[in-house]
Amino acid sequence: MRLSRYFLPTLKENPSEAQIVSHRLMLRAGMIRQQAAGIYSWLPFGHRVLTNIARIVREEQDAAGCHEILMPTIQPAELWRESGRYDDYGREMLRITDRHERELLYGPTNEEMVTDIFRSHVRSYRDLPLNLYHIQWKFRDEVRPRFGVMRGREFLMKDAYSFDLDKPAAIAAYNRMFVAYLRTFARLGLKAIPMRADTGPIGGDHSHEFIILAETGESQVFVHADLVARDILAEGVDYAADLQPVVDSWTSLYAATDEKHDPVAFGALADGKRIEARGIEVGHIFYFGTKYSGPDAMNVTVQGADGKPLHPEMGSYGIGVSRLVGAIIEASHDEAGIIWPESVAPFRVGIINLKPGDAAADAMAGEIYDALRAAGTDVLYDDRDERAGVKFADMDLIGLPWQVIVGPRGAKEGRAEIKRRRGGERHELDKAAILERLLG
Ligand code: ATP
Ligand code: MG
Repeated sequence: MRLSRYFLPTLKENPSEAQIVSHRLMLRAGMIRQQAAGIYSWLPFGHRVLTNIARIVREEQDAAGCHEILMPTIQPAELWRESGRYDDYGREMLRITDRHERELLYGPTNEEMVTDIFRSHVRSYRDLPLNLYHIQWKFRDEVRPRFGVMRGREFLMKDAYSFDLDKPAAIAAYNRMFVAYLRTFARLGLKAIPMRADTGPIGGDHSHEFIILAETGESQVFVHADLVARDILAEGVDYAADLQPVVDSWTSLYAATDEKHDPVAFGALADGKRIEARGIEVGHIFYFGTKYSGPDAMNVTVQGADGKPLHPEMGSYGIGVSRLVGAIIEASHDEAGIIWPESVAPFRVGIINLKPGDAAADAMAGEIYDALRAAGTDVLYDDRDERAGVKFADMDLIGLPWQVIVGPRGAKEGRAEIKRRRGGERHELDKAAILERLLG
């Protein structure tokens, strides 16, 4: 992509409405535009990141055996009356009336609707286990939308729903999602820590929030150093295996906790290995049994292996896809701007031509641009007629993992500079060596 032809409305000044660094940088890097409180348009640069995150989330859900569907944003109120949540949900729910005076709502979550799909089509134990997910916009009329996309009113969520014949099978489904979440966040370049969460009236210990560590996180957490050091991708995973030992090793008593969950005991147990940090919730998994499928709610039955009807055991599994865009920036930036992890970067390489119009610089920058594109690498080529200082600042601000800086003098000798955004390390190399670095 040539920057002269791209839509990247960057800002030089810090927008006054942004209180936290990710919001500030997303506005300055031309990623989003606020349309109303907590409601955003995604501009091309931001949309690329959102799409990259959604792709990784989708790949890991698919690998864990889930099936992608797409449910609507608008839902009928009747479904929510069946579960009893139409009244319980309160003012966070956006209620809508259509021209026939029918009551609708903009979905804040989809347990009721997915349960309705399930009961309409699944009759037999042979069809289980089943896990359906979608990546869809939600609306919650939050009391205090803030911090840009981190706490929006309209936001993109991946939500998955598991259906199983009995509790052990449902826990196995939960464990699969647990591991899939660790893998997903690791691939996004994040350290995610599973932390026990409240299960409310359901009880048990099968609810975890996934927290990523960032200085600006909303909540204080305490984490065992060994968890922070672990690499789930290196450990490999076989979803056909019993994952209980893996889950246990990540959730052993006081491996991670927050103010609510007994930091004193944690401190005593994990002496020396205790890391105090701040965290952002990016995912939440929940086993809730027959809360929605049971006789007091939507009363769903399938025929069991013994011929008797049973209520499927369910769980739900959310990831804040749009929140992750902000969360990744919170976890990965410096004074100059964003530092994208390679896996989600909107472009992998940025080329700066310091003197468009100079024959040698144009030729070298153009050749590198063409070669990278031919190899399938996403490149943003700053071919604008702008001052060098502006180009350097913009390129650091938008945080592409690699920069190639082509100046007229170096180009004449067949050399340019390659810079890694993270760490800032630079080398002057010839064209072949630059391409080898980036593609080799
Ligand atoms: P929170 O405590 O932050 O309000 P929640 O418990 O309401 O979150 P869930 O209902 O579990 O969240 O939703 C799943 C995921 O969706 C959360 O882990 C979070 O990443 C994301 N999410 C929830 N609310 C918002 C919001 N207002 N804006 C952006 N993302 C959100
Ligand atoms: Mg909430």
